[in-house]
Amino acid sequence: MSSRKGSATSQGNGPSNNGRGREDVELAELGPLLKEKGDQLATNSSSAQDQPCPATQEEEEEVRVLTLPLQAHHAMEKMEEFVYKIWEGCWRVIPYDVLPDWLKDNDYLLHGHRPPMPSFRACFKSIFRIHTETGNIWTHLLGFVLFLCLGILTMLRPNMYFMAPLQEKVVFGMFFLGAVLCLSFSWLFHTVYCHSEKVSRTFSKLDYSGIALLIMGSFVPWLYYSFYCSPQPRLIYLSIVCVLGISAIIVAQWDRFATPKHRQTRAGVFLGLGLSGVVPTMHFTIAEGFVKATTMGQMGWFFLMAMMYITGAGLYAARIPERFFPGKFDIWFQSHQIFHVLVVAAAFVHFYGVSNLQEFRYGLEGGCTDDSLL
Ligand SMILES: [Zn+2]
Repeated sequence: MSSRKGSATSQGNGPSNNGRGREDVELAELGPLLKEKGDQLATNSSSAQDQPCPATQEEEEEVRVLTLPLQAHHAMEKMEEFVYKIWEGCWRVIPYDVLPDWLKDNDYLLHGHRPPMPSFRACFKSIFRIHTETGNIWTHLLGFVLFLCLGILTMLRPNMYFMAPLQEKVVFGMFFLGAVLCLSFSWLFHTVYCHSEKVSRTFSKLDYSGIALLIMGSFVPWLYYSFYCSPQPRLIYLSIVCVLGISAIIVAQWDRFATPKHRQTRAGVFLGLGLSGVVPTMHFTIAEGFVKATTMGQMGWFFLMAMMYITGAGLYAARIPERFFPGKFDIWFQSHQIFHVLVVAAAFVHFYGVSNLQEFRYGLEGGCTDDSLL
């Protein structure tokens, strides 16, 4: 970091060396990133408030008279300066068209994108700026804090509220581990994916693996309590969801899985993993009857949870609402944010459902009858 600073200051020997103003001019001139879309940027309210590095006209004209080799040299210097500026957190949002290919994901979001920022510090500082990822970061950052607190509270609950405290805490622990890992991988991915192509690829794989972990973790307490009195099907279903979840994680390691072309594939893989819950649901409903499934089995809550996930995945895959109003949901209410909110809400509804199952089990004092799954 200090070497960057050194090289940036050393180039202040130009025709008009007036410190900060000079640095700002050079950043403002950084080729197609800002210049071509300069007018649009000025009219865009979100970018207008994000312009900490204004340029002066006089200095811009000065640069135009330079000869070609000098301009090339100058361009290199400007690039270096640009990296330094990013490092310092001095950047402005840019339109979709000028993003490098590896940052192009959703062409219905026209403005307000972060430029590539090859510094983790700048990426993390961008959490507090307004751009296309602000909503995505905060929805899962707050969700992460919520589930971390809920998880700690559940783990600290006195053992007297459980029939088999150790086993039940492990079972709930799996759910919270899945939720906390999913949400933290997600907000981290959305924070740092503009760092570089390599970082983006690595964190997107973590992000997708996190979704599979959340789904697998959600199955554990649900199957544990729903099939409390029939350990054999419980073990079979748990094994199947583990195999399917690990398969989804393996598929997510495929480099092309994260590309815009495979948006539907991604939605399909995770939808399929979640919908594998239909088989144990049918089993439970047929064996116990519809009334018992909806009352003691908490199926209403699990159905609501499933609907939230399916709606989220559908909006995500179809990119609704921005598809119908390109450029209108660049900052808030884009499909990805709605999907994030629905994931947190669905995980919370699931937690409520399994908590009810746990209470029911505690109320029965652990007894099983011959013909009961629950
Ligand atoms: Zn996301």
